[in-house]
Amino acid sequence: MKDLLDDIYANIGLSPERGGVATYIPELAKIDPHQFGMCVAAADGEVYTAGDAEVPFSIQSVSKVFALALALGKVGDQLWRRVGREPSGLSFNSLLLLEREDGIPRNPFINAGALIATDIYLAGSRPKEALGQLLRFVRAASDDEDIHINEMVARSEIATGHRNVALAHYLASFGNLHSGVDEVYGTYCHQCAIEMSCRQLALAGRFLIDTDDTPKLVSRERRRRIAALMMTCGHYDGSGDFAFRVGLPGKSGVGGGILAIAPGKASVAVWSPGLNRYGNSKLGTEAMEMFARKTGWSVFG
Ligand code: GLN
Repeated sequence: MKDLLDDIYANIGLSPERGGVATYIPELAKIDPHQFGMCVAAADGEVYTAGDAEVPFSIQSVSKVFALALALGKVGDQLWRRVGREPSGLSFNSLLLLEREDGIPRNPFINAGALIATDIYLAGSRPKEALGQLLRFVRAASDDEDIHINEMVARSEIATGHRNVALAHYLASFGNLHSGVDEVYGTYCHQCAIEMSCRQLALAGRFLIDTDDTPKLVSRERRRRIAALMMTCGHYDGSGDFAFRVGLPGKSGVGGGILAIAPGKASVAVWSPGLNRYGNSKLGTEAMEMFARKTGWSVFG
């Protein structure tokens, strides 16, 4: 496994064609695109790394996996009254379907749906407490206390994220946001500003692999459902392409991170800040593709 990761680093991690970093969040525009890290956390607890696997990065939308798990833990299947389970075929921050579909976002991984998950885990507490709960979940999953929110990144997004504010107001206009727009939006931006290294993220993903040795933070049924949503919706309008090329459930973020799950086998994290046209890590996707091809791992047998 270590040789494979070194091979991926040498073949893909050093590629000159790296995609462009996200610029709509000013703090993320400053990130050096010449970075690449990868980590495999195996079901048996072994951890393998290559490249910049210890460098913390902004996990952004990868946080939506943890937020969904936390929100489901609070309200269970009632969550599905407020958000759907279908791919949107549109970009992560699209407003388009919300009006047509009466304020019910297509799925919990596009921004509109993620705002609902945030609203759910925020209900009844203050943003700081709710974020504390989310951090506790992530720290417990990775068995690492050294995971924090980057306040500069959160503030940078809060100050400039007009589309997300619009989405939040739109949801509120349909009565599908229970806390105040500012509170939900601020909590969402802080959630996205969690920083983790590939090592921490791969370890945190182990709760989604079902074996005797992995953390039991959600039931088996819920784990399967979260993985199904990662497969169908985890890369937005690039989800079909990711399923086709990689064949493993995955979740991306505009910070350039991707978390993928090989059920029963391993949790895999990769990070390279340059993005492809869908807003998913360019080299990260290529690395996952090579990883899946070389290991032969796929949920499709
Ligand atoms: N915080 C980012 C946003 O809402 C997350 C998007 C992403 O990672 N795809 O725009």
